[in-house]
Amino acid sequence: MKIHEYQAKELLRQYGVVTPRGIPCFSVDEAEAAAKTLGGSVWVVKAQIHAGGRGKGGGVKVAKSMADVKSYASSILGMQLKTHQTGPEGQKVRRLLVEEGADIKKELYVGLVVDRGTQRVVLMVSSEGGMDIEEVAAHTPEKIHKVAIDPVLGLTDADADDMAQKIGVPAASVPQARAMLQGLYKAFDATDASLAEINPLILTGDGRVIALDAKIDFDGNALFRHPELVVLRDVEEEDPAEVEASKHDLNYIQLEGNIGCLVNGAGLAMASMDIIKLYGGSPANFLDVGGSATAEKVTEAFKIMLRNPELKAILVNIFGGIMKCDVIAHGIVAAARQVSLSVPLVVRLEGTNVDLGKKILADSGLPIISGNNMADAAQKVVAAAKGAH
Ligand code: ADP
Ligand code: MG
Repeated sequence: MKIHEYQAKELLRQYGVVTPRGIPCFSVDEAEAAAKTLGGSVWVVKAQIHAGGRGKGGGVKVAKSMADVKSYASSILGMQLKTHQTGPEGQKVRRLLVEEGADIKKELYVGLVVDRGTQRVVLMVSSEGGMDIEEVAAHTPEKIHKVAIDPVLGLTDADADDMAQKIGVPAASVPQARAMLQGLYKAFDATDASLAEINPLILTGDGRVIALDAKIDFDGNALFRHPELVVLRDVEEEDPAEVEASKHDLNYIQLEGNIGCLVNGAGLAMASMDIIKLYGGSPANFLDVGGSATAEKVTEAFKIMLRNPELKAILVNIFGGIMKCDVIAHGIVAAARQVSLSVPLVVRLEGTNVDLGKKILADSGLPIISGNNMADAAQKVVAAAKGAH
């Protein structure tokens, strides 16, 4: 689960991370009032969306007068902000952060991720902050420094200082950088985050270390123990189909293709997407209905897939282990009737009570195309998607 920059900064402040003072706003009037409350003579008006690259996309503006604050707030609020992380249609800006302008001398990069290889949280730092870290990694990987953190010790003083020095933090500012890095790690650990990034972490003209941006991703599987984080969720930033799916406890991820996939089990779902690709098709979604899919769940899954205007065909690929094929066949028939299916449906069933399941589908009178095995079903659904208009 992602949160907004202003929420991440509020959270990080509780762990001693220094950020500019700022106030979230939902209207131009609020933005003006926020700038007055903050005082000073330079403010930054920042679009709050769950995507990075806002600066380049025109969603971060430095204002040097109250008139600037108003005009930037009114142009950014409501805009369809396009960045390399939003996709071509962009993301509508509904919230702003107005914060005090900082005197930037140098922009650095600091990030924490879970590294599967070392099975540890890894701190990554670079002197090349502000820009896309992916670019730095691709072209000048030697400018990225990493250290794996021992979960018992946490981020040690020695490692924090070493990282700070490697990215050019002057000796006098190293204690501040250490406090920032350790605070960031404590926040990451305490919130069950999967990613925490400060880009840029800046050095100011007078030697202070400040987090100018903040991004945190929380592990969805741990949210049950963080009610204080769940309230920060902004569903308007999330894909509507995925929000709907999460209400029904379906694991759904929207993709770019046109073949809907309804599968039980994450592994089989991945294999189904692979085989669709192998035969020249493209999956419209990942969908794992789980091991205990009821007719209601299957119906909801169909409804969610059918919301996609790109959808040209659906592949249902079920292995009936614990779930019996006749139960799932009843579910498919009920769902197909209820949603009045408008695209070809290919079904491949295997496992317990498979013959009974196939008979139920055949007797239903619905135009269901039966797949004899995965390869056959994938080829049939790819052909159906190409033929349908
Ligand atoms: P994004 O990463 O989405 O582009 P950032 O918050 O990193 O958004 O802002 C982009 C750039 O805008 C920063 O790299 C920095 O140069 C500038 N900036 C952001 N916040 C401030 C601030 N409070 N004061 C001065 N400059 C800022
Ligand atoms: Mg940034």
